Amino acid sequence: MKRKKVRRKENYYEKKITLTSKILLGLLLGFLFGLLLKQMPSSYIKDTVILGGVFKIFGNGFTSAIKMMVVPLVFVSLICGSASMGDVNKLGRIGGKTMLFYLGTTAIAIIISLFLGSILKPGLGLDMSNLVSGDVAIGESKSLVEIILNIIPSNPIQSLANGDMLQVIFFALLIGIAINVVGQKAEPIKVLFESANEVCMKMVNIIMLFAPYGVFALVSNTFATVGTDAVFALLKYVGVVLLGLLIHVSVVYGGLFKIFTKQKIKPFLKKFTQVAAVTFSTASSNASVPVSLEIMEELGVGKATRSFTIPMGATINMDGTAIMQGVAALFIAQIYGVDLGLNDMMTIVLTATLASIGTAGVPGVGMIMLSMVLQSVGLPLEGIGLIMGVERIIDMFRTTVNVMGDNVCTLVIANSEKDLDLEQYNKDAKSQLA
Ligand code: ASP
Repeated sequence: MKRKKVRRKENYYEKKITLTSKILLGLLLGFLFGLLLKQMPSSYIKDTVILGGVFKIFGNGFTSAIKMMVVPLVFVSLICGSASMGDVNKLGRIGGKTMLFYLGTTAIAIIISLFLGSILKPGLGLDMSNLVSGDVAIGESKSLVEIILNIIPSNPIQSLANGDMLQVIFFALLIGIAINVVGQKAEPIKVLFESANEVCMKMVNIIMLFAPYGVFALVSNTFATVGTDAVFALLKYVGVVLLGLLIHVSVVYGGLFKIFTKQKIKPFLKKFTQVAAVTFSTASSNASVPVSLEIMEELGVGKATRSFTIPMGATINMDGTAIMQGVAALFIAQIYGVDLGLNDMMTIVLTATLASIGTAGVPGVGMIMLSMVLQSVGLPLEGIGLIMGVERIIDMFRTTVNVMGDNVCTLVIANSEKDLDLEQYNKDAKSQLA
């Protein structure tokens, strides 16, 4: 009896460990099955039973389940994030600089990705507009004043019900700050939201268990309808995202580090490999927090800075995710033949920057938040089905960039606060390079 229990537990962990491989298998099989279906002539079984029936249930069911989590997840995790900032007054200066760094670099990340997506056009040559049910409705262009004013909800319950994310974010942020300021008396509600956050995260985990089947159905459907054109487009999409990540790391992080600390970056990069091992295998910013804290300590960053910037970064700083979202939005616009104007681009920058605050540092959440970015400019959510196939691979890379941003920010702020022991930083370098 006991042995059975142990075995069941082992099986559970095995399942968890192999989820990534299952998703990749779902992608591969879906790709092959889709191509096979494409060769088959149109028939009742193929069109109605398989594509329009079973695959629709699994594929659209999975997408709907993901969408279901956006509002609760953003709302709750953002309240927790802003409520856990500690004493806002005491943290004032470090907090301000950190927010500026995190939000600023995220906005730059999206601008880089929109730029790359616009000139390299990863979605060009693939026409998926026939896959959209109904017309592609591009959101009405709004003026910047309207966009900004629209962030403040007049009825937050309505914003939650409508899934108006910018308004939800604004409302959640304000609740978190108020909890923070109220302090002791607000402790019960803080605990309540933290508990709700755990439940939401578990729900995402449960939904992700269905990802292999959802991915299989979505990818099969895609390839049965569009065939091999999609492979090339998907490869281009991955390429553009990776290029964006590389540019962001070398130019933005490399540049900011050099300008603000005037130190060699090599000691940090060497230590960062330990963190990268975690982010690659878990695709989770949260999971990397202990290792980040450790290497920051080894590199001479004081506790005051690192204990704030690292957990905060894992919660709100998602530059890699933002790059994926920018490229994905353009990719989807291109394959569905939607032209995005300057106002739409600005909406994407604003939405994705704010979305990064509400993106939990666990696998796959960036993709959930992408639906919010797409919705903000009226792009069809069906496009997610295609890029979902390469989601996990991109998640590993983008999470590594997310966490690198947290680490670089910590070093820069520690240095500006005289909380970075330069001797320690360089001593470590010498012993490592020796
Ligand atoms: N996995 C990412 C992280 O933990 C979030 C995401 O983009 O899905 O940083």
